[in-house]
Amino acid sequence: MEETVVKCPNCGAKALDLRTYSSMMVLSNTQALFAAHCDHCGQTVSAVETIPGVLYPDVFQAASEVNAGMGRTVE
Ligand SMILES: [Zn+2]
Repeated sequence: MEETVVKCPNCGAKALDLRTYSSMMVLSNTQALFAAHCDHCGQTVSAVETIPGVLYPDVFQAASEVNAGMGRTVE
């Protein structure tokens, strides 16, 4: 089972579920800046995390919508 819950940079609790992100800015083909709501402290926080495989369809769909290369070399 893949890990999608990461440590909250605000309260330190491991309660930030990347699948519930409110925004995701892709930085590379493995990392993104997530903004997500923490169930533990109730804050919306930003964190750079490895993109969970379960979110790759979101990434690819967003990329195709904006014609982005997503960090890959475009021939
Ligand atoms: Zn928190």
